[in-house]
Amino acid sequence: MIQIQGLRKTYRARRRQVTAVDGVDLTVRDGEVFGVLGRSGAGKSTLLRCVNLLERPDAGTVTVDGVELASLRRGRLREARQGIGMIHQHFALLSSRTAAGNVAFQLEVMGMPRRERAARVAELLELVGLSDRAGAYPAQLSGGQKQRVGIARALAGRPRVLLSDEATSALDPETTGSILTLLRDLSQRLGLTILLITHEMEVVKRICDSAAIMREGRIIESGPVTDLVRRPGSELARELFRLGPVPELSDATVVDVTVAGDDADHSFISALARDHDLDVRILAGSIEELAGGPVGRLRLALRGPRAADEAPLRQLRELGLIVEVPR
Ligand code: ADP
Ligand code: MG
Repeated sequence: MIQIQGLRKTYRARRRQVTAVDGVDLTVRDGEVFGVLGRSGAGKSTLLRCVNLLERPDAGTVTVDGVELASLRRGRLREARQGIGMIHQHFALLSSRTAAGNVAFQLEVMGMPRRERAARVAELLELVGLSDRAGAYPAQLSGGQKQRVGIARALAGRPRVLLSDEATSALDPETTGSILTLLRDLSQRLGLTILLITHEMEVVKRICDSAAIMREGRIIESGPVTDLVRRPGSELARELFRLGPVPELSDATVVDVTVAGDDADHSFISALARDHDLDVRILAGSIEELAGGPVGRLRLALRGPRAADEAPLRQLRELGLIVEVPR
């Protein structure tokens, strides 16, 4: 588990001060994939670098599996850091070494005896599906293959936690998909806890159990993705289901209906029409296959003498749907 409390980091560049992380509290549960979303400059990378102490926070604490890294002395800190792997957008591979050589280098840095390295390298490359490219140099590898080397290297110290800073941002959509599948698979097979940052909604959709939105150094929304999509007013949900601007209709009430989970009654459109004598029109809709199951959101225009009443909305809620009147 990763616990971040009251984290703050300010950079002083010349006469300017930038508070990159401005009082962040965050808990990442064991074995989950947690995504932090936000625009460029929001403070995401700084937050991540405070988790493995590449940056020293000005205030606040980070504990990983109950250990506060900042309190450790140098020797113990090195050891604790091996329990935290990290992958990057630009892979940062050594161009003069093969895929196997890059992974071996990491083992060497960790102090693994030479005779043990080859077997461990083979094991790590196998784990990321790259055994057949062990002898290839970075220049001979595709972006996705390079990132697989990056992941193998990050797993060298048998970490319990993996940090990912925009690991798929330099990849095309298809390769992104295969890397995300690999990360999901590794988290399950190795019981890895993954904290990743991204600006791509696709990443959240595909693999995140929980997510947070970061803006100007602060977390403005966070929680399990399945909870966030049910939370009225959620920005994450609005980004996930892009229903477009709300039309101004003088003769209709516009409602957004979210259908999530097995309990929701799917025959709500006919129920509305029948029980409240409404004309129900679908204006927009989207269904997303999330890590926790499919979730759909529909924008409806209700027309009729009782369209503006509370009763139709109440009925929708009783049918297990989440209802919002968008503005
Ligand atoms: P993100 O990863 O969300 O794009 P960063 O954490 O990289 O955001 O940056 C957050 C803010 O902190 C930005 O305004 C950035 O310019 C500033 N910043 C980041 N690193 C440094 C640094 N080493 N020195 C000065 N300012 C920095
Ligand atoms: Mg960044």
